[in-house]
Amino acid sequence: MTRIIDLFGGAPCLSVELWPPRSEAAEARLAASLDRLDLLRPAFASITYGAAGSTRDRTHDLVVSLQRDHGTTAMAHLACAAHSRAELVDILVRYRDAGIENVLALRGDPPMDATEPLPDGELGHAAALVELVRSVGPFCIAVAAHPAGHPEAAGLVEDRRRLAEKLALADFAITQFFYDVDEYLRLVEDLAALGVTKPVVPGVMPITSVRTLERMAALSGCAVPDALVERITRADGPDEVRRVGVEIAIELCGKLLAEGVPGLHFYTMNQFTSTVEICRALGLAPPEAPTAG
Ligand code: FAD
Repeated sequence: MTRIIDLFGGAPCLSVELWPPRSEAAEARLAASLDRLDLLRPAFASITYGAAGSTRDRTHDLVVSLQRDHGTTAMAHLACAAHSRAELVDILVRYRDAGIENVLALRGDPPMDATEPLPDGELGHAAALVELVRSVGPFCIAVAAHPAGHPEAAGLVEDRRRLAEKLALADFAITQFFYDVDEYLRLVEDLAALGVTKPVVPGVMPITSVRTLERMAALSGCAVPDALVERITRADGPDEVRRVGVEIAIELCGKLLAEGVPGLHFYTMNQFTSTVEICRALGLAPPEAPTAG
């Protein structure tokens, strides 16, 4: 039994984000690649949630099986945007009764391919979900943070104020991915100036393809620096793009570790190869075992 907040304060915590598989084939692929995850020995794995409720059971099942059968501390993402209060309580009670102690409380976004807006839920913002999660059980609660500001926010000052209020209720934050270390440092400084010094774990997305980078950046509002776009677009072919993506992430993580971050949270999209390479290069994962012969 591990509350994630108790893991911070020593060596940086390595963590990964996974998606609940959408098909039997994807489930088999994930099961087959979980041994790559073992190479990383992550402090915890977090599992995403489809804000419309589409992954309700799949997120639950993966969280519980990772924790129970795989021995990995698991954190359930939960998005309030499209749910009633009673539905959220049902989901949380099920987690509590299954021995899950860690929840990432989110508002949620419509899926990337959605044509309709999300139906209206009862809680407007993630801070209200944090309060609801607290009322259901002794969960450790994380929240989302956006280093450059949330794309819908009226302004950065207002967004920081809302984030500080939300994080004051929660235990720690994980950021949206970013490629400019100064954006992260400014976020931590701004929160401290607002009196909130809880751990803020930087989110890192290793670039594996130009298309994924463009889609994810558009969805999250992350501005990708021109020099980085140039470096990636100069890469010749998918293997070279992935190699340059690993190189960029190693540089970014190296700078973040030098700043004393509480951890590194990798958006893996269920592909662990790049994350393993990055962590090995940084000395955060055991080196590759020599092959016999
Ligand atoms: P909020 O904290 O509610 O903020 C949303 C906006 O509302 C901000 O602009 C904020 O400034 C504003 N705001 C906050 N409180 C108030 C208030 N009281 N009055 C007026 N305005 C207010 N999405 C998913 O659908 N599923 C996932 O699994 C998922 N995982 C994520 C994991 C991480 C680590 C991160 C960083 C994001 C994740 N997201 C996920 C995306 C997230 O749901 C979106 O970024 C969403 O648009 C905002 O979520 P939030 O929890 O930050 O919302």
